[in-house]
Amino acid sequence: MTQTQDPPQPRDLVRINHWLGGQAVASTSGRSAPVFNPATGERAAHVDLASVEEVDEAVGIAAAAFPAWRATALSRRSEIMFKFRELLDHHRDDLARILTREHGKVHADALGEIARGLENVEFACGIPQLLKGGFSEGAARGVDVYSIRQPLGVVAGITPFNFPAMVPLWMLANALACGNTFILKPSEKDPSASLFIAELLQRAGLPDGVLNVVQGDKISVDRLLSHPDVAAVSFVGSTPIAKYVYETGTRNGKRVQALGGAKNHMVVLPDADLNMAADAAVSAAYGSAGERCMAVSVVVAVGDIAEPLVNAIAERLPRLKVGPGDQAESEMGPLISREHRDRVASYVAGAPDEGATVVVDGREHGVPGDGFFLGASLIDFAKPGMKCYDDEIFGPVLSVTRANSYEEALRLVNENEFGNGVALFTRDGGAARQFQFDVNVGMVGINVPIPVPVAYYSFGGWKASLFGDTHMYGPEGIQFYTRGKVVTSRWPDPASSSVDLGFPRTR
Ligand code: NAD
Repeated sequence: MTQTQDPPQPRDLVRINHWLGGQAVASTSGRSAPVFNPATGERAAHVDLASVEEVDEAVGIAAAAFPAWRATALSRRSEIMFKFRELLDHHRDDLARILTREHGKVHADALGEIARGLENVEFACGIPQLLKGGFSEGAARGVDVYSIRQPLGVVAGITPFNFPAMVPLWMLANALACGNTFILKPSEKDPSASLFIAELLQRAGLPDGVLNVVQGDKISVDRLLSHPDVAAVSFVGSTPIAKYVYETGTRNGKRVQALGGAKNHMVVLPDADLNMAADAAVSAAYGSAGERCMAVSVVVAVGDIAEPLVNAIAERLPRLKVGPGDQAESEMGPLISREHRDRVASYVAGAPDEGATVVVDGREHGVPGDGFFLGASLIDFAKPGMKCYDDEIFGPVLSVTRANSYEEALRLVNENEFGNGVALFTRDGGAARQFQFDVNVGMVGINVPIPVPVAYYSFGGWKASLFGDTHMYGPEGIQFYTRGKVVTSRWPDPASSSVDLGFPRTR
């Protein structure tokens, strides 16, 4: 967690506030955390960290806004989402610049994140269709049965640093469209995107108080997990915190979906196209400096393709342009923090002692200054039991594991504690079909290295990558943010009414 003491701060630094009841509100907690520009290593702002009382205030505002919002016509909620979609589209560049400034990712990658978030808003525009229930006329004589789905109330979203726009949009677009009011607790490492999104929603016509942003750390998370008026919590972040959030939230009677970390394997069969596989591995391993939950972090090379594949990946790495995200020629930006950069580098440093081979060492990157940069690293002969294989490194480090057969490769994937994403590269349709049947992973790519489902499917891993039973966004998102009600209705002819103590029958 970030420092919670208020360190001495230069007075002119920007202060990033909460968003409560439709306006920016400065914290009175006396606590804050620094927000860095990862490309320069400088402290660029500081973010408020809420107290328990401030979280309670936010929940109170959201609870007060709920009755009117849930009664707002579906067509109006849809209209607001359409307008929000237009504003987001119009301000893509502005939002991307905020992402680059605080997260470090390059501008093109930030635009990609926004595009995938926008898809979720587009999906939510169809809320009148998505909330249609079922109707059975004549379930018994004169009796009709129908189902409706209703919002839960105040719901909360707790989000990670690596997608400061997309992950909040995964959650809040559907949650709001379903008629809930929402409290967003963004990552304290890059909190500004959440305020930009809140302002756009206000401009789109969202009534004040329906979306609130609480800036904070563990104190806010713990209060959201215990507050009796929070009905449900969506979480995305690392596995230990996801497990904690799931266990604590459900113990307190809340509906929880908690998405955790990953170790995504890309299995390359001997018949795969070598150049296509190498291009895909490099793109998926080093894009966003490896700080994606769907990044490929292990290539499992099956049989004879291993040697040429390692060479093909290695020869591409010196051409990657590492540099500040706001420079057009940069392809890979810095990592989120100095500590995280050093931790990632330690896996490269430790790999030879574990018996692996460092083929390309990204600790030599040549970017001047104090930014949190690290170049692309490639480790060969990684195996289970080595830290570079077992841990989620979450940086620009790709490990290669060599396997003798399809069965051995599959076993590696299935025995891994995580099950977020996996990819198979092959030209054999039968092998691909068998793989999708066999593999214990929630999101599978066939010759697609980062298989993030489109917004009208749902996103979610298996095993230690997701706690709970509902995946995020898409149809499962609508299910998560609503609960079902079934109405059994009779409008009898008063003339045929009589007393009958028997159990109601349908025939
Ligand atoms: P993190 O777990 O450190 O933080 C996530 C959120 O939890 C933040 O809002 C943070 O303030 C809060 N938090 C942190 N420590 C806490 C604690 N002790 N108690 C309560 N709340 C706490 O994750 P991160 O470093 O921001 O994000 C990177 C991680 O997120 C990676 O593990 C990555 O794989 C994962 N991730 C997963 C997905 C997915 O869809 N499965 C998507 C994106 C990121």
